[in-house]
Amino acid sequence: MARKKRYQFNARTLAYEVHRTSLRKRFSKGLLLFSLSLAAFAGYYFLYTQYLGFETPKTAYLKQRYAAANSKFELLERKFEQSNQALAELQMRDNNIYRPIFGMEELSQDVRDAGFGGVNRYAHLQAASSSQSLMDAVKRMDIIYKKAFVQSRSYDEVSLLAKRADEMAQCVPAIPPVALENVRLSSLFGYRTDPVYGSRRMHQGIDLSGNRGEPIYSAGNGTVVEVRRNFFGYGREIVVDHGFGYKTRYAHLQEMLVKVGDEVKRGEQIATMGNTGKSVGVHLHYEVIYRERRVNPLNYYNQEVKGEEYMAMVNRRDEV
Ligand SMILES: [Zn+2]
Repeated sequence: MARKKRYQFNARTLAYEVHRTSLRKRFSKGLLLFSLSLAAFAGYYFLYTQYLGFETPKTAYLKQRYAAANSKFELLERKFEQSNQALAELQMRDNNIYRPIFGMEELSQDVRDAGFGGVNRYAHLQAASSSQSLMDAVKRMDIIYKKAFVQSRSYDEVSLLAKRADEMAQCVPAIPPVALENVRLSSLFGYRTDPVYGSRRMHQGIDLSGNRGEPIYSAGNGTVVEVRRNFFGYGREIVVDHGFGYKTRYAHLQEMLVKVGDEVKRGEQIATMGNTGKSVGVHLHYEVIYRERRVNPLNYYNQEVKGEEYMAMVNRRDEV
């Protein structure tokens, strides 16, 4: 842009001459103008943002973006919470319902937590990130995925066993070990005064008193795992492992008709009633062991099953 020429009267030469401003003057003038505009802008900015309370378009835009991100984040947080709750419920059902049905040990919380024992694997990331809550979210998502994986593995196990439900129904010790009309329930499961020692002791099974030679039957399908001839204690005893967490013990026997390793069917005669070991009369001491703990056998068989109905379920050995 061409500068507009300015003329100035020279009293000495009596002529109009082109006026020239010095570089210094022009520079200081520019500086002044720049300072003034800077001050004007600062004043305007102060007035606009601080005094009037308006936002600059950029601030407004960022705030809007932040609010949108924040609401998405909150939504994510809620989903986390829901997933966590759903997972906790699945774990609870798995431990308390599905696994016990099939005689499986419950999974410990350590296993379920999939190795997250408070170790912060994301410390290095957090140090580099100012967004702590986002890292928290990533971390929690990872934990949920891992826990869900453990849960799905557990369901695989359960479903595998569920396919064997028929088999399991045959194995659970669900019938009386002896014809009930021929015996008397002479001692219950639980604390009692010991018939031999006279002290109060836990009775780990039930006693069914009857006649010597009364047939004893396996209460479920299984494998004979113990055949012992103790002089004291249980006397002659047989333990059958039914799988699915169940075992049964038949004690104070007279004759034992099976050996260790034999596969037995429910209702198959395995022994005859006797009075061996620590016993003061002919009776069967019968135990149901579930996951290595003695439980009340009366909870496992129907006490109304008698007579022909029972005889139809068992297989008596007449040659004994
Ligand atoms: Zn007993």
